[in-house]
Amino acid sequence: MKRFDLLAQLSRLSLRRRYEFGLFMIIAPMAVVAIAGFFYVYIPMIAATDSLIHTVRHELDPVVELQIKITQSAMPVNDYLIHGGKDEISNFRSQSQEIEDYFLKIRNELVGEQAQLLINQALKSWQKAQGLGEGILGIANPVGNAQGARTMEIFDREITKSASAIAALDETSHLKIDQALVDLSERNQTAILVIGIGFLIALGLAVISGVAFVVTVINPLRHLSEVASQMGEGNLSIRMKVVGKDEIGQLAHVMNNMAVQLDLDRRVLEEIATQDALTELYNRRSFDERMAEEISRSQRFSHSCSLLMMDIDHFKNVNDTFGHQAGDKVLKDMAVLIRGRARAQDFIARYGGEEMTAILPETSFDDALFFAEQLRELIDKFPFRLGGKKIPVTISIGVATYPGHGTEAAGIIGKADAALYEAKGTGRNRVCGAKDIADLKSGQG
Ligand code: GH3
Ligand code: MG
Ligand code: MG
Repeated sequence: MKRFDLLAQLSRLSLRRRYEFGLFMIIAPMAVVAIAGFFYVYIPMIAATDSLIHTVRHELDPVVELQIKITQSAMPVNDYLIHGGKDEISNFRSQSQEIEDYFLKIRNELVGEQAQLLINQALKSWQKAQGLGEGILGIANPVGNAQGARTMEIFDREITKSASAIAALDETSHLKIDQALVDLSERNQTAILVIGIGFLIALGLAVISGVAFVVTVINPLRHLSEVASQMGEGNLSIRMKVVGKDEIGQLAHVMNNMAVQLDLDRRVLEEIATQDALTELYNRRSFDERMAEEISRSQRFSHSCSLLMMDIDHFKNVNDTFGHQAGDKVLKDMAVLIRGRARAQDFIARYGGEEMTAILPETSFDDALFFAEQLRELIDKFPFRLGGKKIPVTISIGVATYPGHGTEAAGIIGKADAALYEAKGTGRNRVCGAKDIADLKSGQG
């Protein structure tokens, strides 16, 4: 239900607005992912990476260096005891200076109580060792000096103690690095999750947009083109479903109006093509078509079908005496009279000039003669007038029937015409029936 409401809402928007909306639906989650990713994933990731690099470069490297330097500082002292070389004194002093610098550096770089405690421990042991080292290097004849050898042992122990404290520091730096790596990997997973969710939302919205596009644009267009092609084939009673007021709805509305107008025009044209303008009876062309149809229908169902040929008597006199307008009025009135008396299924036409015909489906010869006689009497008695003047009007009628007087339209028309001719010849204002085939045959014989 909700879905159709949404679609109805969408159909109210113009195609342009719908296109923009669809595009926004797809792009918006992408933009959200990009912005959120930048602030909540990218920047923290950069920070975590920086911290990792910092830990390695400023903490781990000096700590490792210091550990090596402290261990190496035992070498010049040891060598002095073995060889007594004077340059070992300056070696030890320059190494001591470097070690002091490193201590200063790591004391500034490394934060945290534990780290500072370890640095102090290492420094204390180093300072003890340095004092002992200076003592050894102060011995005038060091080679084989027993006191020197004993001091050296204590010196070595302090060096080892200092180096161990630094090694413990190294351990904490490694823990920090491990933590930074874990942090980075978590950030990485968050990034993948955020991008994945954003992508899925965008994909979902793209699918929804696609479906909405198909339902509100493609389907109506398909309907439109189907209906339009049916209209093109002449089915002007078909109408397009108008959903919404968008461009398609407007187009459907316009095409529906067009179909209504075309349908109207076609009806008018049909009337013009099939009707006689003066009497509004069917014209000669329609009569010919209907006559052929009725005869073939009568053949198919084995019915009889009768034809009346009517002609106004001395109509020329009417025109001459009362004027052409009066003649027209007589023709119109007569059309109304005949149509009023005929059945719904009877077909009345103006055959030409002042001649009219009536096709009477499923009517026997006798019934047709009876009907013709009624018409003749009706016209004879009807007070035709124009401008207060009474116009005397009578008609003569010839009657022929399928199948008694012929099995084809032309034959029946010919027989009815001949009967009319006979009516004219035998005094007018009368009805004459066609001679049936049997009569004709006997007459010839
Ligand atoms: P008949 O009894 O032998 O049929 O004599 P008629 O005078 O009726 O026959 P005719 O064929 O000599 O004349 C027919 C007349 O019908 C001539 C023509 O002017 C007139 N007519 C034909 N069509 C119209 C029409 O539309 N309006 C008018 N006013 N007269 C018409
Ligand atoms: Mg005539
Ligand atoms: Mg006439």
